Amino acid sequence: MKKYFLLFLLSAFTSSLLAQTPKEMAAAIEKEANENSQLPQLAHELMDVIGPRLVGTPQMKSAHDWAVNTFSKWGISAENESWGTWRGWERGITHIDMLSPRVVSLSGRQLAWSPGTSAKGIEANLITIPTLADSLAFNNWVSAVKGKFVLVSMPQPTGRPDYNWEEFATPESFEKMKSDRNAQQQAWRQKIRNTGYTSRTINRALEEAGAAGIIQSRWSSGFGANKIFSANTKKIPVVDLSLEDYGMLYRMVENGGNPLIKVVAQSKELGRVPTFNTIATIPGTEFPDEYIVLSAHFDSWDGGTGATDNGTGTITMMETARILKKLYPNPKRTIIVGLWGSEEQGLNGSRAFVEDRPAVVEGLQALFNQDNGTGRVVNLSGQGFLHSYAYLGKWMEAVPESITKHIETNFPGNPGRGGSDYASFVAKGAPAFSLSSLSWSYWNYTWHTNLDTYDKIVFDDVRNNVILTAILTYMASEDPEKTSREKAVLSINPRTGEKREWPSPRSPNREGGID
Ligand SMILES: [Zn+2]
Repeated sequence: MKKYFLLFLLSAFTSSLLAQTPKEMAAAIEKEANENSQLPQLAHELMDVIGPRLVGTPQMKSAHDWAVNTFSKWGISAENESWGTWRGWERGITHIDMLSPRVVSLSGRQLAWSPGTSAKGIEANLITIPTLADSLAFNNWVSAVKGKFVLVSMPQPTGRPDYNWEEFATPESFEKMKSDRNAQQQAWRQKIRNTGYTSRTINRALEEAGAAGIIQSRWSSGFGANKIFSANTKKIPVVDLSLEDYGMLYRMVENGGNPLIKVVAQSKELGRVPTFNTIATIPGTEFPDEYIVLSAHFDSWDGGTGATDNGTGTITMMETARILKKLYPNPKRTIIVGLWGSEEQGLNGSRAFVEDRPAVVEGLQALFNQDNGTGRVVNLSGQGFLHSYAYLGKWMEAVPESITKHIETNFPGNPGRGGSDYASFVAKGAPAFSLSSLSWSYWNYTWHTNLDTYDKIVFDDVRNNVILTAILTYMASEDPEKTSREKAVLSINPRTGEKREWPSPRSPNREGGID
């Protein structure tokens, strides 16, 4: 009798520990996220120590290994799943100096996959592209680039962003600057068209004509911010210079000066290297073949350290998994963290996963992706799933109002066609959603720029997103019903006047970096 009573007490105790109400679980998640946040440490290790995560670089591989180790420290099993190969490349020292008419170190860097130089570097003078009548005139002129660095970007008339002009200029002066700049841009486009090339293809023509290297400056319309993408030459280096230094060199050449610069750019080619997704799994206990996927791309461009694109999405999903493993170790459904490789070159890692793991796509209860900066989530679309309101709305009810009050919802919405990895799943008709952030000047200042670094992370907002994602995941896991995939009748696209079609799946590039 006594023994049974004890047993009864024990089972009542354990079930009260486990049978939390959504409200209790949400409160526990909030407490853990706020009082024991691992976000600053994760961000430091990933952004400061490992650095940018360009596909095919050793840093990308280090990041995958770091993620697996970090998950395993939390008791979560994880592995790196290979899905293809890429051109291996590693950035080295870039040093760009002006040697004459005075000595100054310039602010710039090699573009991704740019051919390198020797440790001695290349010393050469500079040349700008003149306005020529047509491609014949260009072909007659082009031998002039031999042995020179070519300045291929339009020099910006101002290094002040428009918002700064708007604040301080007279309205007349602001309008005049914009209209002069428009005219300059039009003339520049015409000048490039006249050569018979585009701004992308002209570099190869300059290379073939014997240029020593290409100097560009791709200003991102914010103080000190430049976009840093990839080079497209075979042998000669392509470097991006800050607006300030580029403008100075351009004015010197145009004024008949003959500046001399030296470029050291010691990158290494590493042959073909494998590419990965990091996949972490907390197995489900009741419906192990149904899945909630916490999704973020892991790769980045390498002008900065990929802090907001997509370091913040990455640490959001890792921290969410850590908290759930601690508070909700035996979920009803299987929880997967997908940290995708090579999103930046066309959603390649997630498209490969969709092809290679059809059972997860088939069993998907919901996927939550975060990939547009450090801001708190302000937008949630139903992605064209007719009944998305019913389940997402129900799950959102467990999220504190301090978080949901910022979120505008849009049901059933339209299916995402690209932009980030949820689209790879939506294309297969699987319920995948984007936790879409407030911008924090993402497009000008951090997206694919040299300034996408740790200091731009707004930890309060990222923590807000962790709490949101963890509660949505818990609710999706606990939901007695599997989510509906019924598609809404899509609306007319006002731009084309035609009915929208559901996007179709696309295959990844599994052999990247070959032209
Ligand atoms: Zn991104």
